[in-house]
Amino acid sequence: MAAKRFKKVLVANRGEIAVRVIQGLREMGIASVAVHSDVDRTALHVLMADEAVAIGPAPAGESYLVGERIVAAALDTGAEAIHPGYGFLSENADFADAVEQAGLVFIGPTARSMRLMGDKLSARRHMIAAGVPVVPGTEDAVTDPDEAVAVAGRIGYPVLLKASAGGGGKGMRVVRSAGEMAAALRQTRGEAGASFADDAVFVEKYIEDPKHIEVQVVGDGRGEVVHLFERECSVQRRHQKVIEESPSPSLTPDLRARICAAAVQTARAVDYRGAGTVEFILAPDGSFHFLEMNTRLQVEHPVTELVTGTDLVRAQVLVAQGDGLPWRQDELAQRGWAMEFRLYAEDPSRGFVPSIGRIESLTVPLGPGVRLDTGVYEGFDVPIHYDPLLAKLIVWAEDRDRCIARARRALGEFVLHGPVHNLPFHRWALDQPAFRDGSYTTHFVADSFDQHAWLPELDEDARTALIAAAALYEAGRRSGHESPPGSRGGGASNWRLSALRSMTGNG
Ligand code: ADP
Ligand code: ADP
Ligand code: MG
Repeated sequence: MAAKRFKKVLVANRGEIAVRVIQGLREMGIASVAVHSDVDRTALHVLMADEAVAIGPAPAGESYLVGERIVAAALDTGAEAIHPGYGFLSENADFADAVEQAGLVFIGPTARSMRLMGDKLSARRHMIAAGVPVVPGTEDAVTDPDEAVAVAGRIGYPVLLKASAGGGGKGMRVVRSAGEMAAALRQTRGEAGASFADDAVFVEKYIEDPKHIEVQVVGDGRGEVVHLFERECSVQRRHQKVIEESPSPSLTPDLRARICAAAVQTARAVDYRGAGTVEFILAPDGSFHFLEMNTRLQVEHPVTELVTGTDLVRAQVLVAQGDGLPWRQDELAQRGWAMEFRLYAEDPSRGFVPSIGRIESLTVPLGPGVRLDTGVYEGFDVPIHYDPLLAKLIVWAEDRDRCIARARRALGEFVLHGPVHNLPFHRWALDQPAFRDGSYTTHFVADSFDQHAWLPELDEDARTALIAAAALYEAGRRSGHESPPGSRGGGASNWRLSALRSMTGNG
């Protein structure tokens, strides 16, 4: 098949991933079209793209999730293809169909493989048939609590109730005894129906203290699939990743070879086209099980790019153009070590709740081995309507110890004032023994992070701010006010928290 070179591509996303894709397109000499909601008129992806099209009001359901408007924008601007990024419509098979029906190219897998893999139950059934090890559990949705109790009795407690259509760590509930089942099933189904418009829930064995290991794959859609090794993503809060690294500090060469082979087998089983990620859960006994496949570019793809020296967006575009894969398997290797730190507008001291506000000041780290994928700039107002991911700091070094040292250096140089954010959390995580020796599991944050006792390390300015806040608090208390502005009220140590909040950016 003769390859068709794209001249213009529409990017159906926002934030750091839209920026990343636009940068990749520009390096290939391809013009980019951004789409945006009303609140994103001056967002970074809009400023960076060659053209931009307004597609509706702020709520994603009225803009970034309206497939027809995005297809119309592509046709109007003469784009030949659409890159969906992650989230939003990226795993929506109907959207992929609509794109192709409009005569455009969807930069991603076929709608068929998205349907097979997009929903967790269908993926499980498919993987069982393909001989890939899956987490023990049901092959069908469960609606009857007695049936769920019977299944749990068979596979053993604890079990996990999981929404088949879930994603982003949402739609999961651990059940530790038969008595909890009925209420848990009702709640999980209710949430799944409300969040994903699909209340199918299944039962899976809950693996205690596991590691999350995933494998990057790229297929040409004609049966050829290569893997780009693993990423370890066990630093999670609310079942969602915050730090990722490659290689995983826990894989032996033999285990790595077996997990990567299982990922390739998974992708081959659905004639996979484009970039995708096969996720596994690794139990303490060394057994691993298929969790799900993400049929898109992953948030943490830069870790793989740095450690393998590749450009995954370019690979996606080449495959979509019909050029085939840019590398043979024997040309791919892991070199050195890479880690990614997701910078979220969220408050670690309050259960990681999302935060919003204007980016008042921003000083980003640079220097050897440092990459920053960002969707914001100084002066930008972080809207409340979308995922609170602001940027990703990715560092590379020759080995894991040097990677940690470089990450500490880069995180130390990073200054952000505005919304409350999790940079102090990352600095904390890097110094934890379980992180440093690589033994951390998905329980790491829940086990070692105490949000009430936690205070991020303070620099000189922060100490000054704390003393000033303490004085203010005292003055306020004496004149009869309950607490200083910005504090949560009650509690004698609130001055510390409010001062801290202003220091971590919640001015
Ligand atoms: P990754 O596995 O690539 O790290 P995340 O779980 O962090 O991905 O999710 C990536 C993005 O996609 C986030 O914006 C998340 O909110 C969104 N997302 C993932 N799955 C879904 C889903 N099923 N429905 C809605 N949004 C989703
Ligand atoms: P999502 O679509 O939200 O990414 P996943 O199935 O990939 O859902 O699970 C997200 C995270 O939840 C995993 O990385 C892991 O930490 C935890 N998890 C999922 N399934 C299990 C399980 N069976 N046992 C233990 N932890 C699990
Ligand atoms: Mg997942």
